[in-house]
Amino acid sequence: MDFEITEDMKDAISKARAFANKYFNEELAAKSDSMEKFPMELVELSRKENLLDYSNPWKVLVTIEELCRRDPGLGISVTIPAFGSEVLMLFGSDKLKEKYLNQVVAGKAIMGLGVTEPGGGSDVANIKTEARREGDHYVLNGGKMFISNGQIADFFIVLARTSPPPSPDKKHRGMSVFVVESKSKGFTANKLHGKLGVRATNTAELIFDNVEVPAENLVGEEGKGFYYIMTFFNISRIYVAAQGLGIAQGALDRLMDFASKSNNINDAGELKEGIQFAIAEVATRIEAARNLTYKAASFLFNFNPNPVVTSMAKYYAAETAVYAAKTAMEITGVTGLSTELERFYRDSKILEIWEGTSEVEKLIISRMMMKNQGGN
Ligand SMILES: Cc1cc2nc3c(=O)[nH]c(=O)nc-3n(C[C@H](O)[C@H](O)[C@H](O)COP(=O)(O)OP(=O)(O)OC[C@H]3O[C@@H](n4cnc5c(N)ncnc54)[C@H](O)[C@@H]3O)c2cc1C
Repeated sequence: MDFEITEDMKDAISKARAFANKYFNEELAAKSDSMEKFPMELVELSRKENLLDYSNPWKVLVTIEELCRRDPGLGISVTIPAFGSEVLMLFGSDKLKEKYLNQVVAGKAIMGLGVTEPGGGSDVANIKTEARREGDHYVLNGGKMFISNGQIADFFIVLARTSPPPSPDKKHRGMSVFVVESKSKGFTANKLHGKLGVRATNTAELIFDNVEVPAENLVGEEGKGFYYIMTFFNISRIYVAAQGLGIAQGALDRLMDFASKSNNINDAGELKEGIQFAIAEVATRIEAARNLTYKAASFLFNFNPNPVVTSMAKYYAAETAVYAAKTAMEITGVTGLSTELERFYRDSKILEIWEGTSEVEKLIISRMMMKNQGGN
């Protein structure tokens, strides 16, 4: 067992730090947040500087962490253009990989993933969007809700029902995944305004009105879509946990910066006890969340994913981000309420929602623990 991070990871952290030092600033962060404007210029710069090395997932993980530490809204925006790419990487045909995945990896396209519908996101087996086969293509009808990159993506991975479930208890069967181009006839994306946090990211409602999708854009096999999406969530949850580590660490940085200011030292020359306790509590939780996240990542990146540890990491890192941002905001008082910590707090909340809410993560953990009772 080795708890040291690798040289590759150290390089990625330095690169991300240098990038954030150069291009992230409070004015841009505040403007992207208040105007709900996706910072496309940062995405262009990150591509020019080859910030994200998709050939090494550890480097991607620590890059997300470091960028979110500086600013969650900008950090997530820069790292979200390839959202959903693992579905193509794992299950797409060579032709789909060449046509779509390579474009994203080369920084020439943006993609998104549409699972959630107006009727709900947690109950994936209940989606209503339909894809009907007609000759050499499928016809999609339905809608997706809260889709990241909704208005800026060139194409989406979309989960749709291709056949009715064989029985009420097997609703997860009969679903398939498609690549749908945003320029398709019958496709509309309507921007959603007024989110609590991550306002820099672009979120939209997608509508499919008789959208024709070539049969070759079916990803993998018909009927296996639910399985593909669940496999994807077991990957993406680790990156959400990394977002959480970054936000929590960023909040702690700001809390310690505040604490080091002289008016927080008492007559005995010590930092006020309440602030010391807060620093210790937040730092301990971050350490625990980081160990969980890196353990889950280690299982996954060694092709031996452990869904229980992954859900624990996502659930706990998200909670840690919210806790750290809230604590830092409260301790820093008026400063916290009126500066970037207020944005950190708002931005942290989404981590408890996307890629599986905390309740869903807890259900996964407990169900699998019960199933594996007696195992290790
Ligand atoms: C900014 C933003 C970006 C997003 N980006 C994407 C995206 O790119 N692609 C995408 O597909 N989706 C995306 N989502 C949707 C997100 O994944 C869903 O919001 C999430 O899955 C929860 O679904 P829901 O909001 O419909 O809530 P519901 O599923 O309706 O849940 C409501 C509440 O009930 C609880 N709950 C649900 N089921 C259970 C249960 N069985 N037991 C106990 N409690 C339960 C939930 O925890 C939650 O508290 C995004 C959402 C937001 C806000």
